[in-house]
Amino acid sequence: QMNLVADIEEIIREQNVEMLHLQFVDIEGILKHVSVTTEQLDSVLNGKIMFDGSSINGFSPIHKSDLYLQPDLNSFAVLPWSVEKDYAEARFLCSVKNPDGTDFEGDPRNVLKKTVTKAYEQGYSINIGPELEFFLFKTDETGRPTQQTQDFAGYFEPSPHDNGEKVRLEIYRALKKMGFTIEASHHEVARGQHEINFKYADALSAADLATTYKWVVKTVAKKFGLHATFMPKPIANENGNGMHTNISLFDIEKKQNAFYDADDERELSETSYQFIAGLLENVPNFVAVTNPLVNSYKRLVPGYEAPCYIAWSAANRSALIRIPAMRGGATRVEIRCPDPSANPYLAFATIASAGLDGVEKEMTAPEELVEDIFSMTDEELFLKEIDHLPTSLEEAVTEFEEGVIGRNTLGEHVFNEYVDVKRSELDSFRTTVHGWELENYHTKF
Ligand code: ADP
Ligand code: MG
Ligand code: MG
Ligand code: MG
Ligand code: MG
Repeated sequence: QMNLVADIEEIIREQNVEMLHLQFVDIEGILKHVSVTTEQLDSVLNGKIMFDGSSINGFSPIHKSDLYLQPDLNSFAVLPWSVEKDYAEARFLCSVKNPDGTDFEGDPRNVLKKTVTKAYEQGYSINIGPELEFFLFKTDETGRPTQQTQDFAGYFEPSPHDNGEKVRLEIYRALKKMGFTIEASHHEVARGQHEINFKYADALSAADLATTYKWVVKTVAKKFGLHATFMPKPIANENGNGMHTNISLFDIEKKQNAFYDADDERELSETSYQFIAGLLENVPNFVAVTNPLVNSYKRLVPGYEAPCYIAWSAANRSALIRIPAMRGGATRVEIRCPDPSANPYLAFATIASAGLDGVEKEMTAPEELVEDIFSMTDEELFLKEIDHLPTSLEEAVTEFEEGVIGRNTLGEHVFNEYVDVKRSELDSFRTTVHGWELENYHTKF
């Protein structure tokens, strides 16, 4: 800790950092920050910076609204786009504390910390590599996003005629400067759609990285006059944005990937099969977290590489859970339903604890699905006992409330707030007259 503080002080001096942004996320994973000058560094490091929790979505009631920010020193980063000035800005990601110094239970970051601690007690650390896809849209003269994508390219296509490559390169460079290890970057399937992959990390760092990634992508895109969106399905009839979540357990005692077993026919361990079983068992009860918007369910439809059915497969990309081919230290499970509008802290916490539930209860995974699920008839699906994922937010929230995984993982506070937030979103959607209704009913009736 002492060394880190000294390093941070040196960077602040050398790069002339004037502003410190203290960041955290609300219940939906939306990034918030309060900014202070570097003269207040001591107060910042000692967790003395206070804010009004009652103004943050899903946080605290008005009568106990004073909350404090405790920065995570590892998250310190100078903002790459600020160094062009004669002074720079930096940020810390923070955990939220009560006035008595205890962890505030409404903070999504604290929720994930609890899951990490529980896994640790079971003998595992959790590794996660999320793949966040996004679209780049053009903006109009007033800077507002339009419906026009930035390009018309497709999967892996270089786009010489436009800014796509340039923007991705700039995003990559900004991420790298902020401490990301970038693995790859490519154009995605839909026009205007992109993905930049960063190396997996422990669960908490992975959620920090996902949160930072979204902010950096939006910020850099804006410099090019573009709007980046992580909305799950911005264009009907095109692929939506996913956040495939690659996850593995690391056996702390044996110091090795707990999902790998050289002797198994698929080179997968008993633990990995139990983890898969836990995911499949619990998934209907947690998609309200991994797929949190009304719009999320427009992505989970057949034909666009997004899953609709609850099944696993070693290779098949139509399944909810895929086991990528790599083994040894890279052995992992990829769950394909999450989308990048999810709060990464809550999503990774629920996914991990759903899998760990299977390990704890020694659940048995169903048969692997080998055929393409989208070409199976309803009868075949029925005979193979393959259920479908919730098809609407309403269904998902109901299953979330009825299940135990959400309440156990999020804790009473976040669980109740989350249900409230989602119920009012549903009410708002239900009582709004949408474009589709006008288009289909206005002249006909
Ligand atoms: P895909 O083939 O599904 O497009 P990507 O290459 O885009 O996969 O992303 C794979 C992700 O999995 C990367 O973030 C990578 O770092 C991560 N990953 C690799 N090994 C592990 C592991 N052992 N545990 C968790 N994630 C891992
Ligand atoms: Mg004020
Ligand atoms: Mg990928
Ligand atoms: Mg992708
Ligand atoms: Mg993937």
